[in-house]
Amino acid sequence: MSDNQKQYVYSFQEGDGKNKMLLGGKGSNLCEMFQIGLNVPPGYVISTEACLSYLEKEALPDGLMDSVHTQMQALEAATGKGFGSSDNPLLVSVRSGAAMSMPGMMDTILNLGLNSDTLQHVIEYTGDERFGYDAYRRFIQLFGKVALGIPDEMFDEPFEAIKAREGAKEDIALSADNLKEISGLFLEVVHSQTGLPFPEDPYKQLELAIRAVFASWNGKRAIDYRRQFNITPDMANGTAVCICTMVFGNRGDDSATGVAFTRNPGTGENLLYGEYLVNAQGEDVVAGIRTPKPIDQMAEEMPEMHRQIEELRSKLENHYSEVQDFEFTIERDILYCLQTRNGKMNATAMVRTSVEMEAQGLITREQALLRINPELLEQMLFPRLDPDASDEPLAKGLPASPGAAHGRAVFDADRAEVMSHRGERVILIREETKPEDIHGFFVSEAILTSRGGKTSHAAVVARGMGKPCVAGAEGIEVDVQARRAHIGAVVIREGDIITIDGTSGNVYLGEVPTLEAEFTEELKTLLSWADKRARMKVMANADIPEDAVRALSYGAMGIGLCRTERMFNATDRLPIVLEMIISDTTEQRQAALDKLLPIQRGDFVELLKTMSPNPVTIRLLDPPIHEFLPSELQLLDDLVHLKHLRNSMRGSEVLAASISQLYPGGIMPDGGELPVVLQMADPSLVDEAIEKKEIILRKVRSLFEVNPMLGHRGVRLGITSPEIYSMQIRSVLEAACECQKQGIEVHPEIMIPQVCTHHELAFIRKLVEKIRIEVEEENGIKPIFKFGTMIEVVRACTKAGMLANEVEFFSFGTNDLTQATFSFSREDAENKFLPMYQEAGILNDNPFEVLDVTGVGKMMELAIGWGREVKPDLKVGICGEHGGHPESIKFCHSIGLDYVSCSGPRVPIARLAAAHAALLEEST
Ligand code: ADP
Ligand code: MG
Ligand code: MG
Repeated sequence: MSDNQKQYVYSFQEGDGKNKMLLGGKGSNLCEMFQIGLNVPPGYVISTEACLSYLEKEALPDGLMDSVHTQMQALEAATGKGFGSSDNPLLVSVRSGAAMSMPGMMDTILNLGLNSDTLQHVIEYTGDERFGYDAYRRFIQLFGKVALGIPDEMFDEPFEAIKAREGAKEDIALSADNLKEISGLFLEVVHSQTGLPFPEDPYKQLELAIRAVFASWNGKRAIDYRRQFNITPDMANGTAVCICTMVFGNRGDDSATGVAFTRNPGTGENLLYGEYLVNAQGEDVVAGIRTPKPIDQMAEEMPEMHRQIEELRSKLENHYSEVQDFEFTIERDILYCLQTRNGKMNATAMVRTSVEMEAQGLITREQALLRINPELLEQMLFPRLDPDASDEPLAKGLPASPGAAHGRAVFDADRAEVMSHRGERVILIREETKPEDIHGFFVSEAILTSRGGKTSHAAVVARGMGKPCVAGAEGIEVDVQARRAHIGAVVIREGDIITIDGTSGNVYLGEVPTLEAEFTEELKTLLSWADKRARMKVMANADIPEDAVRALSYGAMGIGLCRTERMFNATDRLPIVLEMIISDTTEQRQAALDKLLPIQRGDFVELLKTMSPNPVTIRLLDPPIHEFLPSELQLLDDLVHLKHLRNSMRGSEVLAASISQLYPGGIMPDGGELPVVLQMADPSLVDEAIEKKEIILRKVRSLFEVNPMLGHRGVRLGITSPEIYSMQIRSVLEAACECQKQGIEVHPEIMIPQVCTHHELAFIRKLVEKIRIEVEEENGIKPIFKFGTMIEVVRACTKAGMLANEVEFFSFGTNDLTQATFSFSREDAENKFLPMYQEAGILNDNPFEVLDVTGVGKMMELAIGWGREVKPDLKVGICGEHGGHPESIKFCHSIGLDYVSCSGPRVPIARLAAAHAALLEEST
């Protein structure tokens, strides 16, 4: 099609109100409002296609200005005014608008069509000289800036000079003569800056303005904005231009201008919400030159207009079935609507309006669910920083566990306990955390580490507990010995108050105000609708009974992953675990395991009861065993200290002996006793401690692995040390029996990690079978349970058919499976090359956050197919972090997963996402 056949210009009567890509958001809505009979000043839209053609050819499309002429003539006919030549001149605004709103992309030019001639007619027609010159000077400045590229300062300087000369604080204080003088000066600015007189011909003005709007699409501001908010060409491509007849809110006390929401965007309350200014133009509201009044006040000041705005409000909502954010202007008691768009609201307001609009019959339940982006719910589930409090962050790390908290800095877990027992809120700061820090997590409001990624110990544990965590804040240098941290020149000492935001990764000095999480009744209602529409169930990852109770409150339908090693980490258990690890003989090891058994069983009983009658998937020990031991460095350090201590104690022994020779009976000349340091010395205690440390050190060295994550862990450990898995299996089965005896319906599922061949599963299954028979005999009751495997190794995917023979369920561990599929170690990838990969467009997303559907996802799909070929009723779920990510959840739905499992506080997000997945599938 050639240019002159193509339609580039659409009047408000004819434009397709649904076609935002073609007419932009503002333009399509102006058409739509016009066509449903709302009072929109007449106008027309130049399409985004014209913009793209202009940018490509660096020239306006053929025939475009002819169409513009035709449209102007239609406007003249509709308004009874004349563009550039009439007693009653037609003035227009030239406005930009892309498919997606891009605030500040382009300034709107108001009052276009004014020149030295039409100005006089405007003054005559309105009988208001001040109004005329005010409009004129605004137009010259806006046009000069936007269409001619003259910097604002060039106009501001003469303007301010005259204000100062007249002693005028505000613009309104300037007289008609002042404004006339200013207009003259502005015309000179244009002349001197461009070398040409100000364009008098309105059509020339219009053409220049259209070109400027088009060009602004490729301006730096617009490009930066699109990059920042990931706006791709399929979301918005080029800007449309709206040409709209001017209406004036500054024609006296019967005129006004304002902006309003059809409902309160902060709370969702079903009440008109907005602001207005009497006798003002739109830009005065935005520029904050005068303080606008709340719209309620209009009910008294301009009751009839207020009634009409209420009417407009319900017409807009009834038509759009969505909360609207609209602009209006009143010119001499006539109300005009100048713009509408869907209102941006916070999560609380989105949820409330969904539930209330459904009740009103404005939207269906499906729409109520679909209009909310699941990710938005995060706002309601975690405490967050008050958006009005704008402090500069002191440092930035990875947003490892969402939520915000403040507290006193503390640098080790023991101090954290002490301070928290004193009633202080504390934040634990470490270089990185280890299992032995766990008691510090319990008492801390939040965790901050200077090393490690989003799957570091700190991140995983904090997420499980629902505590905020910022990890890998590399700008922070932690000095545990000195109990302080350095960030550049700033020092954080123990006891100093800091705030961290695990949602953004920011760290602040001092207390930044936070807003509490609010799980409202409306949210509960909405999520109950979601559960009815979703096909997949949503489980939680929860390791200890407290986490399970919390997960339940978020609506978890079971536990999809219980990492049993977390149960080993409590302070009262770690020493027993240590005993088990360092024991030399099978008997010693068994003795330690016998102590652990009742503890684990107790935990399982509690978990199962809490979740009854829902399933609880228990993963047997997964990490390499040395993770429970201190690091070699730490041990060497301890040994140096202990040996020093031994030497000084030997010294004090000698000293004590000499002193007691001087003073028999240890009685000093003043009648007092020997100093305490000299009495207590029993070097054998220290010797014992040294010996213990040396044993652990030897163990640590013997357990050393080059690549522990690919080493002796998971089922490999279960097979080489079957007594550990046996203890765990027995705990689960005994716990099941105990609950069943009490008449409680429980569904434990034993899950084996790191499996790569069905022989491993067969080996463990035999173990399970043997223990089941024993437990059954001992209890006289058949324990109910399922047996399954994690799928987190590439080979497990390719051999899924064989594995399915051995199990009742699969659970995809997509954290490890992603690492294995990419051969990326997550921590190294995220700290080193992933950001660059994303920037360069080599990878669109971080595959550890967004499931890589074409690679990892493909493997999952194949594995499910092969597995269900063998066992059609094979239950399949996911327990990697992706289980809480809405896009990934959608994919899981599409490949037939039965459930997703995620950290407790993300359960509501996943419930909504699971419903979205089902609803969107139905609608395609
Ligand atoms: P933005 O996209 O920044 O909101 P707009 O094109 O909506 O820009 O215009 C900026 C201001 O000018 C708004 O207050 C708007 O209401 C006002 N405005 C735009 N066109 C007209 C018009 N034809 N008559 C009166 N005011 C207008
Ligand atoms: Mg606007
Ligand atoms: Mg794993």
